[in-house]
Amino acid sequence: MSSIYAYLEKPSMVDYPKHFAAVFFTSGCNFACGFCHNASLMGKKQTGISWNKLEAACTQFKKEWVNGVVITGGEPTCGADLPKLIDLFKTRFGFAVKLDTNGSNPERLAECLPLVDYVAMDIKCGLSAYSEVTGFPDTGKIQESIALVRAKAKDYEFRTTVIETIHNAEQMEEIRQIVKGSKRYVLQAFIPRDELPEEHYRTIPRTTAARLQELNIQMAGCAEEILLRGA
Ligand code: SF4
Repeated sequence: MSSIYAYLEKPSMVDYPKHFAAVFFTSGCNFACGFCHNASLMGKKQTGISWNKLEAACTQFKKEWVNGVVITGGEPTCGADLPKLIDLFKTRFGFAVKLDTNGSNPERLAECLPLVDYVAMDIKCGLSAYSEVTGFPDTGKIQESIALVRAKAKDYEFRTTVIETIHNAEQMEEIRQIVKGSKRYVLQAFIPRDELPEEHYRTIPRTTAARLQELNIQMAGCAEEILLRGA
């Protein structure tokens, strides 16, 4: 069995810049974000899809003119078979591969960076708040992953989902220091949902376009390119 637990039946136009992409989900995550949109994939490992079924899905996507694959989670670097998965998508089927990561596993990330075409790494908050916001205290690993992505990724983005109760001016200033000098930084809108793990996140309003624009100005100069998404 692979560590892929599920995939979107319909390819996506929005999950991989400039690609028509199939989106595959790995189960299990070593963070515990209260605002997780994939909470069912967080703690427990789900039974993975067989390699044969995965190949059949790829064959079908190929017929539908898919040219890219997004490996997302959960946290994809938690799976020991990540390099094998990337190899299947790239070498066997010729898809460009985008890897989503929370940056918690620089060792596996280093192994995979030469193989993937695009990396999107979450910057959840300033380092001082990581433990509280994500339950993951080892910010040294986050810093290590940031440095690796900058130095080794073929193309990449750092991204923050903007949540009213977390991303105050101090937190954004900390994030600015973390991503300073990067190629691309993305500010994403937060969308509340009833099924979010922590109740108080369910009623926080969706990030407005005005708030993203405000942060766009505040973060100006922190990266070569700043993008706003989902407003
Ligand atoms: S890192 Fe992503 S998948 Fe993991 S708990 Fe946080 S939001 Fe959910």
